[in-house]
Amino acid sequence: MFLKRLELSGFKSFADRTELEFVRGITGVVGPNGSGKSNISDSIRWVLGEQSAKSLRGGNMQDVIFAGSDSRKAVNYGEVSLTLDNSDSALALDFNEVTITRRIHRSGESEYYINKQACRLKDITELFMDTGIGKEAYSIIGQGRIEEILSTKSEDRRGIFEEASGIVKYKSRKREAEKKLADTEQNLLRIHDLVSELE
Ligand code: ATP
Repeated sequence: MFLKRLELSGFKSFADRTELEFVRGITGVVGPNGSGKSNISDSIRWVLGEQSAKSLRGGNMQDVIFAGSDSRKAVNYGEVSLTLDNSDSALALDFNEVTITRRIHRSGESEYYINKQACRLKDITELFMDTGIGKEAYSIIGQGRIEEILSTKSEDRRGIFEEASGIVKYKSRKREAEKKLADTEQNLLRIHDLVSELE
């Protein structure tokens, strides 16, 4: 699996539709300060479901929408699509290419798509779980992250190994199941209370 294409439109400094094609191997992005290099990596984390505006260097999520410049009016929505080559079936979808898209409107509402089909954020998160590609995964190492990985608590480092070993999906499903169980136990207690009130 490798990153084939990134399309940005109305995202941060990319007012017009911009398409970046990647090939196998190493790609370097070079440009003067403030030209939008980091906005590209922000767009990758954003389309993968990043929910923290702060980590995208903004105050709120709508800040990722092109806000206008001296020569251009602001736009009403921002959109990013990321296409991965899936010919090795690394992603559990029966397609050779997988494109995920996220769109945000000025109202703050986000829409997500997998191969142009509307989906939930959860579907995208689950699709990338244990692949190393999720927004928190090790495939995106931001400035300062290496130091963070080396110096943070052992539990945080453990998260990286858990992702690499492919058990995050099961831990997440276990958490969901435990929550459902706890909710059901609460409901049962409530029913017992109601029954004893009626007796
Ligand atoms: P450096 O080399 O200094 O790290 P860079 O090439 O990584 O710079 P970025 O940080 O990606 O640059 O881009 C910063 C530019 O993006 C700034 O000019 C900023 O005004 C512009 N920018 C960020 N958000 C928006 C937005 N919502 N609308 C318009 N422009 C934006």
